[in-house]
Amino acid sequence: MADGTDESGGPDSDDRPDGGTVVGTPGATSPEEAFARLGNAIRVSVLEALHERQRSGDRSDEAVPYTELRRAVGVDDSGKFGYHLNQLLGEFVEKRPGGYVLLAPGRELVRTIKSGAVATTEGVHSAATDAACFRCGAPVTVTYTSGYVVTCCTECRGALDYDLLPPGALSSIPLPPGAVGDAVETAPRALLDRAHGRFCHRARMFGDGICPRCGGQTTPSIEVCTDHDADTGPCEACSVSMPATVRVTCRVCAEGGISPVACVVSHREPFWDALSVAGVDRAGYDAFATMLGWPMSVRDGDDGAAVAYDLPGRSDAVVVDGDLAIRDGV
Ligand SMILES: [Zn+2]
Ligand SMILES: [Zn+2]
Ligand SMILES: [Zn+2]
Repeated sequence: MADGTDESGGPDSDDRPDGGTVVGTPGATSPEEAFARLGNAIRVSVLEALHERQRSGDRSDEAVPYTELRRAVGVDDSGKFGYHLNQLLGEFVEKRPGGYVLLAPGRELVRTIKSGAVATTEGVHSAATDAACFRCGAPVTVTYTSGYVVTCCTECRGALDYDLLPPGALSSIPLPPGAVGDAVETAPRALLDRAHGRFCHRARMFGDGICPRCGGQTTPSIEVCTDHDADTGPCEACSVSMPATVRVTCRVCAEGGISPVACVVSHREPFWDALSVAGVDRAGYDAFATMLGWPMSVRDGDDGAAVAYDLPGRSDAVVVDGDLAIRDGV
């Protein structure tokens, strides 16, 4: 969008007095039009300035007066600033008697910017950790590449064999650059724990039918590899070491992916208790690795395929049915 020349969104208001009423609101309704309004650095700065105010200030006093907002953004020309502010009204910003406030879509956009989700990352960063491979016990490395935190075993063939993954991959978890920062170099083990901890918490929500990203409804299902062979590494047919996984997809935002079955039900008994007995009741890499170390097998369930786990200290298997109901097996 050309700077200051597009008036299609509504009446312009040059030289509006500070704090004056904005005339009309741009009537965009489609996502394309709404996002097109953001193609300007001043507008993005307005959203960030409003977000900063809401983050640090008293929420009852969150409306930012026109002049204060203009100064925060650093634009001297009131007419120019008013024009750009006007373009944000409706979807992203609301005018109230005391000034301007950020609306939920505007807040979400600033969060996306701050997480670095739209920034580019260069190079591949990798570091050794003191964590152990859940397949062979050797030390693992953590790598950040293309927006994914990838854990790799230094000795065995690992558990995943997807395209673009390095050899020995044990897990591959998306995390935005802002959340990773320089942690590969400065705190690789903590990064490993954060990535896997977040993964497990999200998996639990997905398993309960709730999208952790948008709150929409999810429909988890157990997927079984019918030609599974993972004795020496990831299966050639399904590319993972587990004979069955849970696939989740949000019906609203399409967020989702595959997860080890145990992770999806790890907040429920007897899985929660088994983690506690193992001394890993906090979500992190060790909890993830403990769950991946529990022997599992596929069997016929009440409703399609089910997965049976042999949890430590139990004589009977624990069965997770296709609808993720948990029952005792034999
Ligand atoms: Zn290994
Ligand atoms: Zn397979
Ligand atoms: Zn969603």
